[in-house]
Amino acid sequence: MADCDCLAGCPFFNDKMGGAPALATLYKKQFCRGQFESCARHIVFKALGKPGVPGDLFPNQIEIARKIVGTQ
Ligand code: SF4
Repeated sequence: MADCDCLAGCPFFNDKMGGAPALATLYKKQFCRGQFESCARHIVFKALGKPGVPGDLFPNQIEIARKIVGTQ
């Protein structure tokens, strides 16, 4: 398990995206402090940089991330 390199600047991790708190806690454990390379936001960030990450993209939205980066 490792922490995501985006923790400090990530709106999802810093509770600026809304959504259900219980789900956010779950995703933070699963993605932000675990398998961050599988996070939808991280996938887009790696491909396009921070400006390319939609403000409303949640960590579990892998399909949307793949469409954005063109790997689907
Ligand atoms: S894993 Fe995803 S949601 Fe969590 S800090 Fe990294 S980029 Fe943000």
